[in-house]
Amino acid sequence: SKRGGKNRLVFFSSDMLVGRERDLELTELLRASVENGFSGFSLRFQPQVDAVSGRLTGAEVLTRWSCAEYGEVPPLEFIPLLEESGLILPAGRWIFEQGVRVCAKWLQKKKDFALSINLSWLQLEDPDFITFMQACMQQYGVDPRHIAVEITESYIASNIGFLQDRFSRMRKLGLKIAMDDFGTGYSSLGILKQSPADIVKISRMFVQEIRNNSFDATFIRFVVELCHNVGIHVCLEGVETEEEYGIVKSMNLDLIQGFLFGRPIPEEEFERDFLDR
Ligand code: C2E
Ligand code: CA
Ligand code: CA
Repeated sequence: SKRGGKNRLVFFSSDMLVGRERDLELTELLRASVENGFSGFSLRFQPQVDAVSGRLTGAEVLTRWSCAEYGEVPPLEFIPLLEESGLILPAGRWIFEQGVRVCAKWLQKKKDFALSINLSWLQLEDPDFITFMQACMQQYGVDPRHIAVEITESYIASNIGFLQDRFSRMRKLGLKIAMDDFGTGYSSLGILKQSPADIVKISRMFVQEIRNNSFDATFIRFVVELCHNVGIHVCLEGVETEEEYGIVKSMNLDLIQGFLFGRPIPEEEFERDFLDR
């Protein structure tokens, strides 16, 4: 089966060799971090809001990592390295547990709070991961209905057979499943029928040029209608400006996540800005 990890092409050019050396060095630093109690890792929380009222509904957990040698390294660089090295298995468990811990705390301030946690393909292939998630939610007393796991559309599309069993086990627990980065893969809309998610997150690619691209607006409307017909909620990612919000506000979306409503911020800051008001 096609792996969800980034396919890397290695050319014999000196630039790429440097790139590969950096990767190897970063991987060793990531390994040291993991072995040192996940030092250097931290979580950010980005608000998700009701598309019409703009009120907070929950948050997505986004992981950060920094080291003395390179400073803060972007997740688009370190997540693939964690995947290639297998370190995403321990790191992903740590991220999930920290997320659940925070969710338990925030549920006391907002009883319908929902937390979204990204899962890597490697975690889904780990046969013990679902049992781990269950134990974790039990330990912190969090009803799985308050947790959504985000899985990219492209990984779902290329592993649909294998994932049926994983999805039904997660569903039985009560976990929500969110299809991430919808519209960026090569799959057809039929994926929504074969592998229904609870939430579809439309990629921010569709907001970026919405002012002068009528395809993007039509696509969003179309996906919303299709999803609502089969009971799937839709979240639009990447709304940055009032102008963009003005355009998408009437599109019948359920949720919005974007810099206009909040950037990914640390736990204490999120609490202060969104939950203690
Ligand atoms: P993603 O899952 O699609 O997460 C959303 C990304 O879009 C985040 O980038 C977020 O900061 C960014 N974003 C949100 N709203 C806006 C907006 O209005 N404008 C713009 N320009 N960007 C916006 P981030 O935090 O850099 O994460 C990048 C990717 O790294 C994530 O994309 C996800 O694929 C991966 N990632 C991050 N944390 C984790 C994690 O804990 N586990 C796994 N497996 N992947 C993670
Ligand atoms: Ca995500
Ligand atoms: Ca996304």
